[in-house]
Amino acid sequence: MRMGYEALIDKSVEMGALEARLVPPKEIVFDARSFLKCRFGCNRWGKYWTCPPNLELTREYFMDAFQKYEQSIFIKVPDPKLGQEIAVAIEKEAMLSHGCTFAFAMAMCIQCEECAFPDPCRYPHLARPSMDGYGVDIGKTLEPLGFRVEFDKKGEFLPVWYVMVLLD
Ligand code: SF4
Repeated sequence: MRMGYEALIDKSVEMGALEARLVPPKEIVFDARSFLKCRFGCNRWGKYWTCPPNLELTREYFMDAFQKYEQSIFIKVPDPKLGQEIAVAIEKEAMLSHGCTFAFAMAMCIQCEECAFPDPCRYPHLARPSMDGYGVDIGKTLEPLGFRVEFDKKGEFLPVWYVMVLLD
């Protein structure tokens, strides 16, 4: 592991994150059932460039790339747009200051009220895939960290979102 990733945690918090933690990629939980949740019940399915089935890179391709990463940072945010901004900023910082040539942010894309799909993406420099779109079980991954995906009594998400940046 390269030294100094703690600075990325500090930067995340400076930018407005509630908390951030380093998580070794081997502790990230994948579960094929997350695709069922994407396919059935999510109103983003098929409407966003950054969600299935429009990701274009297969899960197998993603997993090949994933094996190469040595560290990741999970970032808890109060707002999904802020989360996307922080994730992309941390990805850039990791590349510029930590030698992570292939640092890669994963965050639900919230840049446009309506995605341009199937027309070209308006902000490809900001758009990244959602974690669950590649099978990450966010809840199970977060449990050991003391982070939780929480719902209110009506089944709505509480205002807490998570983004991730893979670090090499
Ligand atoms: S930036 Fe806009 S057009 Fe591009 S994937 Fe995100 S929502 Fe869609």
